[in-house]
Amino acid sequence: MRAPGATVLVVDDTPENIELLDGILSSQYRVKVATNGERTLQIARSDDPPHLILLDVMMPGMDGYEVCRKLKEDPRTRRIPVIFITARSEMEDERRGLQLGAVDYIVKPISPPIVEARVATHLALFDQRIALESNVRERTLELTEALDALERERKEHASASARADYLLSFDPVTGVANRHDFVMRLERAADRLRRGGQRLALVSVNLDRFHMINAAHGEQVGDRLLRTIANRLAKCIRATDLLARIGPDEFVTLLSEDDRLTGEELSAAAAELGERMLAAVRQPIDSDDILAAGPVEITASGGVTLFPDDCDEPLGLIKRLQAATIHSKSNGRDRVTRYSPTLDANLGHQLQLEQGLRDALRNRVLEVHFQPKLRVHDRWISGAEALVRWPDGKGGYINPSEFIPLAEDTGLIVALDRYVLETVVADATLWRAVSAHGGRIAVNLSAASFGAPDLEDMVRDVLASAPEPVCLEFELTEHTLLGDVQSVVHRLHVLREMDVTLALDDFGTGYSSLAYLKRLPFDVLKVDQSFVRDIESDTDDRAIVGAILALAKRLDFKTVAEGVSTSRQLEFVESHGCDEVQGFLFSPALPSADFIRLLGEPAPVAS
Ligand code: C2E
Ligand code: MG
Ligand code: MG
Repeated sequence: MRAPGATVLVVDDTPENIELLDGILSSQYRVKVATNGERTLQIARSDDPPHLILLDVMMPGMDGYEVCRKLKEDPRTRRIPVIFITARSEMEDERRGLQLGAVDYIVKPISPPIVEARVATHLALFDQRIALESNVRERTLELTEALDALERERKEHASASARADYLLSFDPVTGVANRHDFVMRLERAADRLRRGGQRLALVSVNLDRFHMINAAHGEQVGDRLLRTIANRLAKCIRATDLLARIGPDEFVTLLSEDDRLTGEELSAAAAELGERMLAAVRQPIDSDDILAAGPVEITASGGVTLFPDDCDEPLGLIKRLQAATIHSKSNGRDRVTRYSPTLDANLGHQLQLEQGLRDALRNRVLEVHFQPKLRVHDRWISGAEALVRWPDGKGGYINPSEFIPLAEDTGLIVALDRYVLETVVADATLWRAVSAHGGRIAVNLSAASFGAPDLEDMVRDVLASAPEPVCLEFELTEHTLLGDVQSVVHRLHVLREMDVTLALDDFGTGYSSLAYLKRLPFDVLKVDQSFVRDIESDTDDRAIVGAILALAKRLDFKTVAEGVSTSRQLEFVESHGCDEVQGFLFSPALPSADFIRLLGEPAPVAS
């Protein structure tokens, strides 16, 4: 039962009735009074509404029925229980009142126990109803929350499975098809074409030295570059053709034989498409997002295979495609190779070479040889360039031009550079001889090593292990200087602060202007041997070498001519003020002991 204090509104136009009802109720309830319909509605709609209304039916103006109808119409008041009080006892009145939403009826003359009992009962019922409603509301809320949670779970599950579906078919970085999808589609196409006796060509585009870009600029820039390249490649093919990324730096597309493209035309069209795709990759990068990280040059190597000519089984076809691509890489990159069975041996050879190089690094069987550099004016040995040598097990050496590009492509070059540096620095006898001679040893540093985040620590660690004071130079090429100018300059300064000098190797083969290079703290400029080689026969090369030497002098670089192998070449560079020379005219790279012996010889060693 509702606690005393519930408010009961007594509505009657007769003061005696009001008094009587007030007398019955006021000991247990707060009684409010209204003598007409308007006032009743006002009180019911106020901030302090009654919990129950005793409503006289017969009133002047708005009668009780009308008041009840209005109360039940209004959402603010419709829940307040209404008990009619009337002198009439006809069944018809009772029915009408109940139809209007009253909960009960009390007939005059008023009997106090009946009033007490009915009011108490309906207040209690009202309480119960409120409690029930709030229960229902709570349960509904709980149910709604549970349903919401279920719906959320369903949606999460759906989006996870949509993502899983997406990842099953697409490469998340570039949005083109992934390897899985490509292989499936190739299998389907192969089934179809086999039945129709038709052919198909695969064309691959494998980015050159992509991991160096990742190392120098970070993976975010690498990803942006991949997206740029994917967009460019997509423009080389029809919108309906398939483009897929089947490896970290490898894209592939396929070309089917159709009415327009038959027989030999297919092979030629595939090769031509490959060339167009490589040209698209080669275009200067114009995305500010990428260039913000510094100049980026990128090329790719391509391959072409034909189904079923080269292989009638999809995975075998992809393997042959890779053999063709690897052949392009080991033949100078930025070219397309049409697969031929002889390349299988090359692929096997490349894989063997890679494994062999890993083993050679692990087992420390690589050697470091030293090619002397001579001061031009007195032919005094001013130092040497350290060059890695890989014994082939048959008394000879594997050519660096074979394994250095491979080391660059696989990232092994970082370990190789460290190995060479460690080997050079650890040779106490070498340093004693070199310092007695006032010389300096140069070590080549690859782009990947220069871009490595731990370059500084690596060099510091290795130098700290030196048994003798070392006089070191690093040779870097323009291609090494990836990244924005500021960070390149910063890195170069970091190296210089470790008391090493810096030489710009193979000068003339890159695209940098001398003005750009002047901003970089290099001490030495090495004129590339390709210019020196043709000095005697090529007037252009003579002009180039002459101009480089003159400009370099004006910009205060020390100059070294590489690959000097004839006395005519020596004379030419000497007459143009070159400071030092290096080349077979004097000596090839020698094992450490031979080089040290050479240092002991009285100068001049050549004239
Ligand atoms: P590079 O740094 O420009 O080295 C000079 C190359 O020219 C050496 O070839 C050297 O043997 C060769 N050379 C010297 N004088 C003459 C000459 O008179 N005529 C001709 N035709 N060639 C001459 P190598 O040792 O085969 O090295 C080739 C390239 O491989 C090097 O070019 C360098 O880029 C790279 N390399 C060699 N050793 C290392 C190394 O330890 N670390 C790194 N990162 N790269 C290395
Ligand atoms: Mg060099
Ligand atoms: Mg060089």
